[in-house]
Amino acid sequence: MKTLIERKSCPSCYSASHTQLLQQSFDTQGLRFYFKEHYEGRVNIKKLFDFNYELIQCAACGLIYQKMIPSEQLLTEIYDEWIPESEQGRLNSLFTLKDYSYFAEQIIFLIQYLKLPQSKIKILDFGLGWSEWANMARAFGCSVWGTELSTLRCEYAKSIGISVIDYEDITQQKFNFINTEQVFEHLIEPRKVLEYLVNALEPNGIIKISVPDIRKIYRKLIKLTEIDSLTLSDMMPIAPLEHVNCFEYKTLVALGDQVGLKPVPFSLSLLYKLYNSASGWLEPKEMARQVLRPLYRHLYPKSTFLYFSRK
Ligand SMILES: [Zn+2]
Repeated sequence: MKTLIERKSCPSCYSASHTQLLQQSFDTQGLRFYFKEHYEGRVNIKKLFDFNYELIQCAACGLIYQKMIPSEQLLTEIYDEWIPESEQGRLNSLFTLKDYSYFAEQIIFLIQYLKLPQSKIKILDFGLGWSEWANMARAFGCSVWGTELSTLRCEYAKSIGISVIDYEDITQQKFNFINTEQVFEHLIEPRKVLEYLVNALEPNGIIKISVPDIRKIYRKLIKLTEIDSLTLSDMMPIAPLEHVNCFEYKTLVALGDQVGLKPVPFSLSLLYKLYNSASGWLEPKEMARQVLRPLYRHLYPKSTFLYFSRK
């Protein structure tokens, strides 16, 4: 059983021609340090020592990707054992008020964009994580389905009322919105998966793809012969064995193009909806209400909405 498998062609446009950006044995100080720190000492990477970490760039579409990817067996090991499932409490504590506001903002935007009553909006959250985003969408009254590889996370999603479906059953439904947050950088076959998800999208539906942006470290990267000088946070967009596809705007657009998708066109109306979902202050009627509501609800006139604390 092989530990790593070689990709013979670009996972986005299937072209085989490429240039090499970086090649380095897993048995080097920089990568040993990375694995030790990133997985907090849980991982023995000796079995990787015969292989190289290789970052290459597709000559046709420009996508940067890892040439050597984990076998099926190693993938299971990485996502089930290297990354512990019992991290919910720790991850929850990392979410700030701003993060939750941002989830809410995205959902308000999509409700405005789709122009449908919330109860008619069907959402698929592809890669639920600990259901933070999906739970917010439910709170707004949308119907939410989700998928997730980890059994523990699936059980948790079910326990809070999210319908968990198997990958094979996704295309039996049509969704108005498909959310993918930090998913596509992990996929061995991103184009195949995106093609599949498009089959489950309503004709006017939208799909969100949000991935790390490689541009931040690209300039550093092309000057390097080894990754040893990169910090852990530099490494994030090119995380060995995990972020096997490293996108920037144009290569993400190119992936969409391969399966018949285009970015939602920029317009003043779109900008308006984006601003309004963030603030709610742009609707003329709403603006006065937004300014005055906290005052009349909590200060004057004395209302029957009160927050109490101990005397
Ligand atoms: Zn390509």
